[in-house]
Amino acid sequence: MFHLAKGRMEGTDLWKIVHRMPKGSLLHAHMDAMFDIDFLVEQALATSGIHISASNPLLTSKDLEEEPVSFRFSAKPKTESKGKPSLWEEGYEAASLVDIKVAAAAFPQGGEDGFRNWLRSRCVISPEHSFYHHHGVDAIWAIFQRAFPVIDSILFYEPIFRACLRRLFVQLAADGVRYVEFRIGFGLGFRREGHEESEPDHLFACQVFQEEVERFQATEEGRNFYGARIIYSILRRFKDDQIVDFMKKCIQAKQAFPDVICGIDFVGQEDQGRPLVDLVPVLFWFRKRCVEEGVEIPFFFHAGECLGDGDATDQNLFDAILLGTRRIGHGFSLYKHPLLTDLVKEKKILVECCPISNEILRLTSSIKAHPLPALLARGVAVSLCNDDPAILGHGKNGLTHDFWQSLQGLENLGLEGLAMMVENSIRWSCYEDQSAAEWKADIHDGILGEGVKAVRLQEWYADFEAFCQWIVTEYGDTADD
Ligand SMILES: [Zn+2]
Repeated sequence: MFHLAKGRMEGTDLWKIVHRMPKGSLLHAHMDAMFDIDFLVEQALATSGIHISASNPLLTSKDLEEEPVSFRFSAKPKTESKGKPSLWEEGYEAASLVDIKVAAAAFPQGGEDGFRNWLRSRCVISPEHSFYHHHGVDAIWAIFQRAFPVIDSILFYEPIFRACLRRLFVQLAADGVRYVEFRIGFGLGFRREGHEESEPDHLFACQVFQEEVERFQATEEGRNFYGARIIYSILRRFKDDQIVDFMKKCIQAKQAFPDVICGIDFVGQEDQGRPLVDLVPVLFWFRKRCVEEGVEIPFFFHAGECLGDGDATDQNLFDAILLGTRRIGHGFSLYKHPLLTDLVKEKKILVECCPISNEILRLTSSIKAHPLPALLARGVAVSLCNDDPAILGHGKNGLTHDFWQSLQGLENLGLEGLAMMVENSIRWSCYEDQSAAEWKADIHDGILGEGVKAVRLQEWYADFEAFCQWIVTEYGDTADD
């Protein structure tokens, strides 16, 4: 439904209202799936030294759609790529680097313009893909997961990463978001400007991230932006030794950049990856190691992002709660579990709900069939999030689409309901490192507390009051009844 409704919703008065709403924190968003794809493609073509490679020549339409391709910086002069068979020809030497401009010019379907369209198509889920609901969840995830390595290979190069972050922060702030927790892992490696080799750890990537957050906060547009942190994310299909290796890198990054790393999670298709119960030994190892190293890196697990009832993904909800997760990513199947619903409330765990993502990834056909109202009616704390806006085809950054759709689609949810979820997003933000007890006390105290959270809740109340006043001034005359 979303792709069909998107254009229409963006042209409404309600869009203008929701866009202007102060939206608190964005708590569930995968950073590499957030950058406007046209901008990313532009950066790849405009940054000197970017090369493309593939493990086989791309000859058929199936190759063009599915063969893995990768981008990276190389100091090779452009002339080296000229005159050699490009990726689109039989004689292409497997895995050899071709200058992106040379490859684009030789693209068989329309040269550079055609190349841009093709590359874009490799980084997004098209409306056509999302319409085939009957193909099911695994089929769309296969397309979805092919996009990440392509995007990451372009994105994780210092000058491009900086340019993308600058644009992203501006867009988020313009949409009324004042704080973000990104899920990101830097798994493929991060390259410094002018360097061919990737960094051995995440320290430089964290440094660049921190510099860009601070740079944005020093601008006029960013002066009200509280900041951004990273929930370190590891692919859930990895084996124990790979996971432990990434966990060590995560702890090292946390020690060097304590303000950047705020938590840990596992990502990738939950149905196809390892369930949490299988990860318990490494998670216990991680927790012990964090205590030894004196760092606080809490769990923020994806769980129950599935249609299954009683399968391993559905059961992840039990383990996420038992392991002490502070929030649950998606929790799509939570509404089917009365006991877990009560536990989530009792333990003050927030559900990060991503309605449009659930639609595109074929868990629900529209907001009308989404479990969000079932959770709200039971008093579960929920905040609305956008998950992977660029890949899913939002075409904009921010929370307006997800807010708009929930407001318009659910009769029991009004502006005050949206406001409550924004308030939740602030209460459940990990603005600073806290022990489990401090975290819980702060959530309990809310606006009456004495810490950072209470101050930010007070600021949000003032912003929301001004926003309501604006609606009355702007639309009071035109409203009927
Ligand atoms: Zn997610």
